[in-house]
Amino acid sequence: MRVSRLMLVTLRDVPADAEIASHQLLLRGGYIRRIGAGIYAYLPLMWRVLRKITAIVREEMDQSGALETLLPQLHPSELWKQSGRWQGYTAGEGIMFHLEDRQGRELGLGPTHEEVVTNLAGDLLRSYKQLPVNLYQIQTKFRDEIRPRFGLMRGREFIMKDAYSFHAEENDLKSTYTAMDQAYRKIFERCGLEAVPVDADSGAIGGAASQEFMVTAEAGEDLILISDDGMYAANQEKAASIPPAAVPLADLDAETLPTPQQGSIDALCDAHGWHASQIIKVLLYLAKLDDESEQPVLISLRGDQELNEVKLINAVSQIVDQSVLDCQSISQDDFSRQGVLDIPLGFIGPDLDDQLLSEARSWNPHFLRLADHTASNLQRFICGANKPDLHRISCGWNDLQGTPTVLDLRNAKAGDQCLHNLEAHLVEKRGIEVGHIFQLGRKYSKALNSSFTNEAGRDEPFWMGCYGIGISRLAQAAVEQHHDAAGICWPTTIAPFEAMVVVANIQDEQQMALGEQVYNGLINAGIDALLDDRKERAGVKFKDADLIGIPYRIVVGRDASEGLVELVRRSDREMQKLPHATATSALIGTLRP
Ligand code: ATP
Ligand code: MG
Repeated sequence: MRVSRLMLVTLRDVPADAEIASHQLLLRGGYIRRIGAGIYAYLPLMWRVLRKITAIVREEMDQSGALETLLPQLHPSELWKQSGRWQGYTAGEGIMFHLEDRQGRELGLGPTHEEVVTNLAGDLLRSYKQLPVNLYQIQTKFRDEIRPRFGLMRGREFIMKDAYSFHAEENDLKSTYTAMDQAYRKIFERCGLEAVPVDADSGAIGGAASQEFMVTAEAGEDLILISDDGMYAANQEKAASIPPAAVPLADLDAETLPTPQQGSIDALCDAHGWHASQIIKVLLYLAKLDDESEQPVLISLRGDQELNEVKLINAVSQIVDQSVLDCQSISQDDFSRQGVLDIPLGFIGPDLDDQLLSEARSWNPHFLRLADHTASNLQRFICGANKPDLHRISCGWNDLQGTPTVLDLRNAKAGDQCLHNLEAHLVEKRGIEVGHIFQLGRKYSKALNSSFTNEAGRDEPFWMGCYGIGISRLAQAAVEQHHDAAGICWPTTIAPFEAMVVVANIQDEQQMALGEQVYNGLINAGIDALLDDRKERAGVKFKDADLIGIPYRIVVGRDASEGLVELVRRSDREMQKLPHATATSALIGTLRP
């Protein structure tokens, strides 16, 4: 391919709306163009990258025994109503684009394909003899993300590889899950990416294992915790650890103390010299449940700890045995709108009376009481007295009415001790989620009545797994992991071209002829080569070459008259001046060992 024919438009300036390096470089290098919020055109260079990634993904998926298919992107609402996800995905903060056809039938644009594929499997897979099956597809997904950003990292239209496996037994699901784990490690390695597998939240489905693959990068949206002995890694949404011990409370008599204007942990500590770990912090949340009821939740945490909202949602969902559609902290205004008055915010204790909710307009009239282990483990503590400007000191759980359910509700943090090894500690890193594998269990097969006949002749719902890779996100994550101040440094396996021949001055006939000769030598050896034959200044061409980041470059310049060229490696700029035939064969040797 010749650069003069490539429709290459590079930008010198950093586009104003691009915040992170990879997004800036893909825009500047002529890889992508923004069409709308979270909607991008993949320009020819980008499409070549995406095709190389999908080729690797296909090879490894095929190798694992999975079957490629292509499912529709228009999904009839009935399927999503059957699984119980239509409401959650289309109303409120739901991310499914949806529409009506000319007959007034509702349809959704596929954000994920559990419903469609589970329904299909129920139709096609009748007997245990047909199992297991692992179906995958590579396709555009649609998600009306609340905050589309960072270019391809969080798009509203993006390319995903998704796979769904069907099994007669849970153990068989586990072995496919392990095979997918292995395949994913290979895929990311072949793409030149360092991706860390981490334990992930498996949401309200419960029990089932799930693992994410994270490309570590400052710009990552996820916080991950890795143990310094390398034996444990988890998304903060899921991570469990041992917090620092609480500072013991001096032996004080139990009493109620005036604490005016001390409605926060900091204010209490400042005023009395207490440590935050001696105080119980009480938070109020409202959970909107699947049956449309609204459940107030009262959470007790040790004052120096942070609530983990994912753990909270999972806990509520498990206790009430329903999906939680939304769970947000309750504000003073929310209370007023419910007609719930006299809530002593800032001075609440774990035993806040249910009586307060008796007049609530639509909320359930009682609190769901939860406590994190850090709070329940305190023998004596300081907590609000449920009256304005008052706290109780040296209080114990036996002094309080209403026993909370005790669970892990806190955020694990850097420095915490690890559960698997008390000598090891957690370190925080940021990560970009490029893949996710998941043991779904039988949630969808049960909901969609999707079953097979087992060996004993009885009908049983399938065991299912699902496995995703964000193909377009992965491409950008590779840039985030491999770039320098001058531009992209693509890993060779996914670079749009493997090598680029730059002719410094195309008006010099000798240079042009030698450039063509080197280029043809590479093409004939089956190398994906690019020839920069543009009538531009050499400096411009070198800058563009750095920016678009082709891994190897052969520069044909002034020394062409002596048959000499420069062979340059983009990643570390290592340069060798060589006779052109030597340079060509050395490069072919590197790329096709
Ligand atoms: P996230 O937590 O980042 O929103 P998710 O958990 O919703 O992602 P999955 O449903 O597991 O994502 O989708 C599989 C993969 O698709 C993810 O691991 C990610 O790489 C990719 N992906 C998800 N959402 C987007 C998006 N909006 N834009 C680009 N890639 C995405
Ligand atoms: Mg995920």
